[in-house]
Parts: sequence; structure tokens; C-alpha cells
Amino acid sequence: LDPDVFIKESHAVVDFIADYYRGIEQYPVRSQAEPGYLSKLLPDTPPIFSEPIDTILEDIKKDIIPGLTHWQSPNFYAYFQANASTAGFLGEMLCSGFNVVGFSWISSPAATELESIVMDWMAKMMKLPSMFLFSGGQGGGGVLHGSTCEAVVCTLAAARDKALTKIGHDSITKLVVYASDQTHFTVQKASKIIGIPPCNFRVIPTTAYSGYGLTADAVRSVMEEDISQEFTPLYLCATVGTTAIGAVDPLLELGQVAKEFGVWFHVDAAYAGSSAVCPEFRRYFDGVELADSISMNPHKWFLTNMDCCCLWLRSPTELVDSLSTNPETLRNKPSDAREVVDYKDWQIALSRRFRAMKLWLVIRRYGMAGLMEHIRSDVGLAKHFEKLPRFDDDDDDDGLKMNIRLLDAVNSSGRAFMTHAIIGGRFVIRFAIGTTLTEIRHVDATWRLIQGIAKGLLLADHS
Ligand code: PLP
Repeated sequence: LDPDVFIKESHAVVDFIADYYRGIEQYPVRSQAEPGYLSKLLPDTPPIFSEPIDTILEDIKKDIIPGLTHWQSPNFYAYFQANASTAGFLGEMLCSGFNVVGFSWISSPAATELESIVMDWMAKMMKLPSMFLFSGGQGGGGVLHGSTCEAVVCTLAAARDKALTKIGHDSITKLVVYASDQTHFTVQKASKIIGIPPCNFRVIPTTAYSGYGLTADAVRSVMEEDISQEFTPLYLCATVGTTAIGAVDPLLELGQVAKEFGVWFHVDAAYAGSSAVCPEFRRYFDGVELADSISMNPHKWFLTNMDCCCLWLRSPTELVDSLSTNPETLRNKPSDAREVVDYKDWQIALSRRFRAMKLWLVIRRYGMAGLMEHIRSDVGLAKHFEKLPRFDDDDDDDGLKMNIRLLDAVNSSGRAFMTHAIIGGRFVIRFAIGTTLTEIRHVDATWRLIQGIAKGLLLADHS
């Protein structure tokens, strides 16, 4: 990296990104590109000679931006929020700038130590029990992964190895993983990856009656049935904030069932976990003290640009027992003396990014007050939107029946992007508020857009 070239070119890129954000509302929110559009625009072969950054930025504007779905647009209400922020971006820049690979403490002591400190900070902000903190002195601690999927794979591997040590290594076909019909599919995928037979993944139905949360009775009865069939319950995943509708599983009751049956209890708070920094939302975590592991994604709702997933463990040694390797090339005194954390043993890959730098910057630049304000403002917008359909005179059942066509028409307009879910057998349109640029005027305008398109569809049907 040549510092002079870096200054010149990074300024061009920073200006480009700033212009992108300034003009973001001019683009269709969901890309209107057709499959295969890009190969028609780009050459088949890579360039032989270096090209100037300005030319490349021009091509990005011309060819790449039309194929982007603008996740940072104020009119993006699809999937889940993926907050970008100045601090998150600058933290990512510092992470990339240093480009250190902190797989073991000695390979970059600050990377490891900052990560452990930031994980304790995050846990304190979310008021997690001290058993999950390094500073709690009970053996707990946390690590940053790239995604919840990786975090779940690692905790499942630890749970599997712990169980197989007890029941015998050829008993993997007996192990069973439990989740609800609202649990993110990442748990099913992780379960497959670590070798649990697909037929041993139990999807327990939820109902409107429990707010689409798992009930302890339902879990208990499925586990009892499994035990009667000589299966071994292994792992229960509870969710705080399901992806489809933000449902919350009751951690206290489920944690008690998990203890009763001796299964690993994981809490997936990928989506809504950030809200725990606000005292008024912390109650959704009641019972978290019964968890073996907890994961949440600052890259969703915590102003931290992709990628960043926090994973805390009550007993990291169980994870390390499962994932550690000790090649001669990496041996060093502090690791041999077990004086340090070597994060390579807490994750899948050897190499790792300096994500702690990014999260640290976010926490320091916004402070707890700023982060709470960010969550509260999004919740306020969501509450505002919630009132609009309810109090609108024009709302009727016909409109609901047209959900599929309505969603398609809104998304094709390019003026907003929403996605759907099937809940209790019904097709529902989700309105997930959370980009940092969304203001009340965007929410109101999108509601007017939805109403206008719905009326147009109804008129067309009746004419
Ligand atoms: N769990 C929940 C509740 C989620 O909402 C998501 C993503 O939407 C995930 C897990 C998957 O997260 P990741 O993409 O980091 O694996």
C-alpha cells in the first residue's frame, strides 16, 4: 500500500460513496436488473494492464449500481436492517488498513485483547449475566464471528462433541436438534453441516396464541417422545426477535426445559438483540442466564457495517475443545503457557478480520446514549407505521387478499422494497424499518404509495 496513491484514490472513493448516499433516493430500491445483465456489460477477460481508479468508478456507476438493491435507501423495508454508519465505515477502513490477521494472541496482541474487551463492553451494555464476560471470572467470554450461521455451527459442534464424549462417537445419528417453525433456517443449515441427520432436526410449530413463540410444553413433549424412541436431545435454539415477525421465545421457561433434559441452550438474538441496550426492552432477555451461548449481529441493528456477529459462551473451553488445533508452525510461548486467548480456536477459519476495531469505534463514537437513541427512534417509526393501516378508512379485507400482487407492484415501482413471510398459514407483507436514513416522511410516503397501488389494483379488478 503506497501512502501517496492511497490518499489520492481513497479520496476519490470517499467522494464517490458520499455522492452515492446523497443521491440514494434516485435509484429503484430493489434492483430492476434482469438475471445475467452484468455479463452483457463487462468484458469476458480481465485487463492485462492497470486501469485508473476514475475509470473503474465510472463503470461502477454505470454497470454495478443498476444491479444493486439499495439496502441503505430510506425506502428499504425488506428482510432486516443492515445499518451502515460513518463510524462503522471508518472502523471497517481501519480494520482493512491495518489488515492484521489475529488468529492467535501473538499474531497481533491488540486485535485479540481489543476483541475480548469489546465483547465484555457489549455484554455489559446488553446487561448479560457476568458468567458470559471474561471479567466475570467464571470462565465465560465472547468472540466476534462474521455471521450467526458460523456462530451456530461452532456452538453445535461443541454441543455435539460434548454429547458424543458421553454417549459414544458412533451415536451421532441419535442426536436431535430443536427449533421452532419461526427459527431462522441458519440453525437447520448448521445442524446439517455438523453431521446431524436431517431427519433429526425437529421443527416445533408455534401459534398465534403464544405470539408465535415456542412454548415449554411443546418442547418438553417432543423431547420426551424422542427419548422414548431412544434419541438424545442435543441442542435447543430459542430466538429473541424472529426474522419474519420479531417473535420472542420465552427464555426462562425454555432454559428450564433445556436444563431438565441436559441439552445445550442457544439464544439467537441476531436481529433484535441490539434492543437490549435499552432498559425498556431488556425484559425480552429474562432467563438468558440459563443459556449456554448467545449470539447477536451488530451488523443488523447496531450501526456496524457488515460483517459482525457477537457470540458469548458460558464455557468457552467446550468450544475450544471442539475447534482447537495446534500446528507446530503456530506454536509460541504465551499460547503454550495458556496465558492468552487464541481466537483461531473459537471459530471455523484460521484467518480472521480485526472486527473488534469496527465495533469499538461504533461504541465509542455513538456512546451508549447514541446507540439507545438509534434503537428508540426506529421503534418509534415502527410504532408510527403500525397505526397507519389500523386507522385508515380505506383498509378492507379485499386489500389483504391482494397481498401478493400488491407486494410485487410496490417492489416493481422501485419506490420502496418490502418482503413477505408466511405466518400461521397467511401470506403477510413485512415492513421492516431500520435504515439510518429513514425518517417519518419516508414511512408516511411509503404508506401513501401502498394505498395508491392497492386502490389501482382494486379498480382494475372491478372495471
Ligand atoms: N437469526 C436471525 C433471527 C436472523 O434474523 C438472521 C438473519 O436475518 C440470522 C439468524 C442469520 O444471520 P447471519 O446472516 O449472520 O448468519
